[in-house]
Amino acid sequence: MSGGRGTAEIRLRGVEKRFRTARGEEQVALAGVDLDVAGGDFVCLVGPSGCGKSTLVNLMAGFERPTAGRVAMDGAPVNGPDPDHILIFQDYGLYPWKTVLENVLFGLQARKVSPADARERAREALEMVGLEAAAGLHPHELSGGMKQRVAIARALAVEPSVLFMDEPFAALDAFTRLHLQEELVRIWEERRPTVVFVTHDLDEAIYLGQRVVLMAPGPGRIQRILPVGLPRPRERTRADFAGVRRELFEAFQLVHRDAAGEQEYSI
Ligand code: ADP
Ligand code: MG
Repeated sequence: MSGGRGTAEIRLRGVEKRFRTARGEEQVALAGVDLDVAGGDFVCLVGPSGCGKSTLVNLMAGFERPTAGRVAMDGAPVNGPDPDHILIFQDYGLYPWKTVLENVLFGLQARKVSPADARERAREALEMVGLEAAAGLHPHELSGGMKQRVAIARALAVEPSVLFMDEPFAALDAFTRLHLQEELVRIWEERRPTVVFVTHDLDEAIYLGQRVVLMAPGPGRIQRILPVGLPRPRERTRADFAGVRRELFEAFQLVHRDAAGEQEYSI
């Protein structure tokens, strides 16, 4: 789907990010981060809150600059947001005064897409997330799960080569969340964008990711990268899934114990 736009391969080397806190102190949010994400990969970032997951995604998406080290996309330094790389947050970012269809169309209007093509692509994207029938509704008429689907449809309509998703399903009920996880995997298999997905739900990470990147705090860093290696469709109730879950929980508990020595963290 990257249509001559490169393979959307991300490379981080020696990445550090410092912030100045409100009290004027320097804080190291990330240090010494090396990571390679191949084009078409699906990587999940997990770790205790405050370990720098959002910061890492924002660096890759070009919303932040590293204070040291390099962040590159297809070999070129990331200098700012790219319209071909989409970031989806937990709060859907829909325009309340626009209909579902208009919200999805909005992302296409800034691009050189004819109005007829834009409508076609918007309809197609709404179909992918099962919202064709809701095209004429406004956000206040939708449930949280439907709003998040509109946000996903809006992202998909522009056929991004990279999807950055920062805890996109965190606010949803368990049922909706499972459903959207399935849809996301189906869409990823069909179009193969590079996906970097932040979650604090270890099961979600194992269900979705080709690899799970476990991060640790103080300073934020990569602790371990776990290849998931399970065939798809994945089944949470199967023994192979439970095996990966056990491995990830054990690794996570080590991080959590270390972190708890310094400060109380929650996931
Ligand atoms: P996570 O997403 O894993 O919860 P974040 O990336 O949001 O972690 O934050 C990592 C650390 O960096 C935290 O200690 C947070 O307070 C700090 N931080 C993040 N963004 C900023 C900012 N804009 N200014 C100051 N500190 C920040
Ligand atoms: Mg975060």
